Amino acid sequence: MGTRQQALFIIFGGTGDLAKRKLYPSLFELYKKGFLKENFAVIGTARRPWTDEYFQDVVRKAVTDADTSKEDADEFAQHFYYQSHNVNDTEHYVTLRKLAQRLDQKYSIGGNRLFYLAMSPRFFGTIAEHLKSQNIVTDNGYNRLIIEKPFGHDLASAKDLNNSIGRYFAEDSVFRIDHYLGKEMIQNIAAVRFGNNLFRSLWNNRYIDNIQITLSEALGVEERAGYYETAGALRDMVQNHILQIVSLLTMNMPASFTESDIRREKIYALKALQVYSPEQVEKNFVRAQYGESSAGLKGYRQEEQIADDSKTETFVAGKVFVNSENFSGVPIYIRTGKRLSKKTTRIDIVFKDVPKNIFGSERLGKNILTIIVEPKGEIYLQMNVKKIGQNFGLKVQKLDLLQVEDNSVQIPEAYEKLILDVLRGDATNFTHWEEVAYSWKFVDAIRNAWDNQQIPLPEYASGSMGPQEADDLLARDDHHWIFTSENDNRD
Ligand code: NAP
Repeated sequence: MGTRQQALFIIFGGTGDLAKRKLYPSLFELYKKGFLKENFAVIGTARRPWTDEYFQDVVRKAVTDADTSKEDADEFAQHFYYQSHNVNDTEHYVTLRKLAQRLDQKYSIGGNRLFYLAMSPRFFGTIAEHLKSQNIVTDNGYNRLIIEKPFGHDLASAKDLNNSIGRYFAEDSVFRIDHYLGKEMIQNIAAVRFGNNLFRSLWNNRYIDNIQITLSEALGVEERAGYYETAGALRDMVQNHILQIVSLLTMNMPASFTESDIRREKIYALKALQVYSPEQVEKNFVRAQYGESSAGLKGYRQEEQIADDSKTETFVAGKVFVNSENFSGVPIYIRTGKRLSKKTTRIDIVFKDVPKNIFGSERLGKNILTIIVEPKGEIYLQMNVKKIGQNFGLKVQKLDLLQVEDNSVQIPEAYEKLILDVLRGDATNFTHWEEVAYSWKFVDAIRNAWDNQQIPLPEYASGSMGPQEADDLLARDDHHWIFTSENDNRD
């Protein structure tokens, strides 16, 4: 059983998709594991005029699966209260304060408040302001603000958003969610890098040839079309998730495994990103859109809510450099897109060849460390070994470095881990403002070049791994993608 936490959650956007699909099930897991027990309550707020009973029913349904006991779900749902509330209406915050005070006493919470803004970022500033001005923040406990992506749509808007929140909440009480940072295998990067001298010593430009990061989705734009059309793959996936992964892969070893030391190194890595000139963007970045598929799937421009002349990219591939002492010169190839051949998140670290192949005509494969984040956590190391037999021959062997033997160990969902981190006040796995700012600076240079320079927007076939241009990007450097639609791990 975990250490019990006392907290009042106020979830703005309590009727929304994120709340139902991710937040309530994650809170329920924390409840079942004993981190939340008697001393917690949740207020869900949104404009819809729901009653507490109706809300509790929604919560019960959201957490019910084959393994849920009805008693657990009922008991859990009783901690949930609903307050109909328009975030632009000051009067409503007065009602909210009263309800919060009542629940704080009823559940002996001691003033700890967690404000989860699960709604459009355009409301963040006004909510933060009202939480302060209407005294919904307490002075006898902590007050923590959890916010969702997107954090701005460029550096200037991100700065505005940050200022509007920063006037009321200090940086150390703002938790910017990037749910990739809550994923088990993303957290494993630090364990592999810094827990093994083997990798710690080799993790630099002397031994690493190139790094490949792939975040591919098989689905098309689906129900988030309206938002996606204004964002595109670069803003939606590269600015946050991919650059966060880049920072974890290239940061220097922190002095200790603590929030401040880790964040310092991540910020330093992102600060060292090479920001491209328009000519460099054209050379190092590819964007594309999915077309109609032969199987009858719609192309991006035929999707609902999408303009028929849309220039929004659904695919990005690029070559990124982190100009730090240990990583300058190592190409980091990144790629993300929709309607690709397979849903996967994976990282391939390709090591340099041995200085000399002494085995004559025997071909040596590359040493590749592969970290598969999704669909299933896996870590492989590709090595050359001798073929068994009288003669001397070589073969490539993949070592499985992550034998999950105990099937009973359930992997916690990213949101569950991140909410627990917020309850404990640990911001290690959240994005610091400076990380956001350096990431936008890098992304803005690409976006501006694309917007100003008529750089082509090719189509790619649904079910492929993107346009030919993404393969050419690596071929020019005499490299290739390790993961292809035909082959999981070719070399
Ligand atoms: P959503 O389903 O559209 O929910 C938006 C919520 O805001 C609803 O509960 C809505 O309820 C409420 N709302 C809208 N205007 C309001 C107002 N003036 N006053 C009070 N409440 C208002 O959106 P979502 O998908 O849950 O996403 C929420 C946030 O999470 C967004 O920032 C999104 O980018 C981010 N996000 C979502 C996902 C996901 O998987 N869904 C993933 C990553 C990030 P009423 O209509 O009842 O007011």
